[in-house]
Amino acid sequence: MEKTLVLVKPDGVKRGLLGEIILRLERKGLILERARKLVLPPEMAAEHYQEHRAKSFFPALIAYISSGPVWALVWQGPNAIALARMLIGHKDPLQALPGTVRGDFVCTSTENLVHASDSSAAAEREINLFFGGVFRE
Ligand code: ADP
Ligand code: MG
Repeated sequence: MEKTLVLVKPDGVKRGLLGEIILRLERKGLILERARKLVLPPEMAAEHYQEHRAKSFFPALIAYISSGPVWALVWQGPNAIALARMLIGHKDPLQALPGTVRGDFVCTSTENLVHASDSSAAAEREINLFFGGVFRE
């Protein structure tokens, strides 16, 4: 069993796609363990996206992810980390396949509706950032 953190980003909340995104992960068989709605303070956003600190798009990314409420979701299941990434799709809108969230709903590079942890180390760090000790429960 794995746990992973999924964020429905501000554009996903504004576009009313929370239910659509939950439906796809739930239909696959993953179990929703925790959910929390919050606006990320910029410091928390910078911590969440620390691996991108040196990138040119970092300031735009922090402004975007802090621009309104997100839903933070903890999902559990076998291979939850890789499965959530697969269902979400590629970050490049030209490579995101139809049938994935990004493939079906996204045409831009920054505003792409959803985040999912990309490794077990990232999942632990991100779940702890949003939900305290829930990773070990
Ligand atoms: P993913 O969200 O698929 O894990 P990354 O970790 O590479 O992708 O990037 C984190 C987020 O930063 C992306 O989801 C997107 O919102 C933004 N981003 C990534 N690359 C770019 C880019 N080249 N231009 C603008 N925004 C980007
Ligand atoms: Mg990433």
